[in-house]
Amino acid sequence: MTLAIFGNRVNTLGQGPLLPTMVLCQPDAAKSCGACCGLYNYADSSRPALVRRLRKRTKRFWETMAAGERPEAFAERILREEDFSKRYEVIYCCEYLGFLDREEKRVGCLLHPAVHGGEDLRGISFYGRELCAGHLCPSHQHLTEKQKRILIRVLDDWYLYGLCLTDIDLVKTYFQLLSDRVGEEVRPERMEEEGLRATVQAFFSWKVSWPFRSEETGRLGKYFFDGSEYMIARIDYERLGRRTSPFHPLFLSFTSEFRSGEELDQGEAMIRANLDRFTRFYLEKKPLALERPCPY
Ligand code: SF4
Ligand code: SF4
Repeated sequence: MTLAIFGNRVNTLGQGPLLPTMVLCQPDAAKSCGACCGLYNYADSSRPALVRRLRKRTKRFWETMAAGERPEAFAERILREEDFSKRYEVIYCCEYLGFLDREEKRVGCLLHPAVHGGEDLRGISFYGRELCAGHLCPSHQHLTEKQKRILIRVLDDWYLYGLCLTDIDLVKTYFQLLSDRVGEEVRPERMEEEGLRATVQAFFSWKVSWPFRSEETGRLGKYFFDGSEYMIARIDYERLGRRTSPFHPLFLSFTSEFRSGEELDQGEAMIRANLDRFTRFYLEKKPLALERPCPY
């Protein structure tokens, strides 16, 4: 199984009409994504662990460059010093991923030409220049332009941004549920309204703070690794004494592990309350034209 959404790079440029219009990797100064460079594939991919790793690595990188050494010398040190235990063995964790700004708001490639006055150093990396420059993850094709704009508008934190935007099931299922309730594809411009923005933010924050989250190292969203192969995680509804939940894809994306039917009921109630809240805010100010379509 290819886990392209988590890290494996494939060259997607040159695919003509499939090319998306909006690139999600570095959308603005407040956040960025490094998922396909293996950011979330460390055995400990918690936020504090990644911050420590990227901070130290970035410092080391610039010290190496300031000393006039080759970037390969930096890589040798990092590969020797850091713990590269992985969640999924087949996904490479690139040692050249670091912070791009002093404020540590943006993760990104320390070999990128934008960082070196136009000189592209990515040729020395594991994937090489062509794959690094040519890859766009499946989210670019599977998410609608409106969904992309909403994610960029509401998520201002690199850790959460990368986790959410690469979870296509999570994003598409959530927005489909919302669209079904409000009667149109959710409009990005409505995210200027505090109530709506906060509700969407609260939903996506469950990607890291979901109370029924499994702590198994091999789990990430709906996938888990049993030591030999990747599988889609399951929720044993029969054991819980419940029917398959209408929010099943969301539960998998939140890496859920319910210990009882009551916990499952609580999870459903949380999601339903979020959807209801959004719907109430959204319809309060829905333009008249949409509520009463012209009969002609
Ligand atoms: S948005 Fe996609 S292509 Fe860009 S860095 Fe993230 S995972 Fe990679
Ligand atoms: S060289 Fe840069 S773009 Fe390529 S995988 Fe490493 S960090 Fe990502």
